[in-house]
Formats: sequence, C-alpha cells, structure tokens
Amino acid sequence: MITPAGLECHYYYEDFARGASRQECRAAKVPRSAVWRPTDCADCPVPSILAANGSTTLELRILISRKKLRLGPCVTVEAWCSLHGPIDGDPRVGCTECNADSDDLLRRALG
Ligand SMILES: [Zn+2]
Repeated sequence: MITPAGLECHYYYEDFARGASRQECRAAKVPRSAVWRPTDCADCPVPSILAANGSTTLELRILISRKKLRLGPCVTVEAWCSLHGPIDGDPRVGCTECNADSDDLLRRALG
C-alpha cells in the first residue's frame, strides 16, 4: 500500500472503508521501539530498502525513537538474512553471502 508519506510499502496497511479508520505499520518492531504513528512513515527507510532489495530472505525490524529536541520521529532499521543472520552493511545491498551465492549461480549458468 501507499504510505502517508506517498511511498509504496509492503508493511503499511490502511482501511478507510465503511467508516473504518485504520492505519497500521505491520513491520516487526524492536521491543524498545516507540508506538508507531502514521507520520513516522515520512522518516522511515523501509520503502526504499524494499524497492532496492527484493530478496526473499531479507527480514527487517524497525526502531522508532522520539527525540525531545528534534521535531519528528527517527526511524532506524535492523536488517538480517533468514539464512545467514545479521546484515552489517547497507540493507539496500542486502546479505553479502546471498549475493555471492547468486553471483556464483549466474556464473555457472553462463558457463
Ligand atoms: Zn543470506
């Protein structure tokens, strides 16, 4: 669905049908994360990560923090690979081991 910030996001859900007014972020949250608000989408890196990385093994967890001296939320993402564990680098690039595997497959396929 399209988030309040105007980006497609796999985890965002809304339902305004039949008088309902429901907006949800269904991304996994870090336990100490603040409660999600629709305005948090504006600062969330998840849509751009999903757009850049379509890996089925990519898992994301978000942490929403609210800083007193800063207007607006701060959303950070923890990424990991369901096969290989935490992803240290840029989640847009994804798991280096999975990427190496698919490079291998490609090389073999091209012979
Ligand atoms: Zn992996």
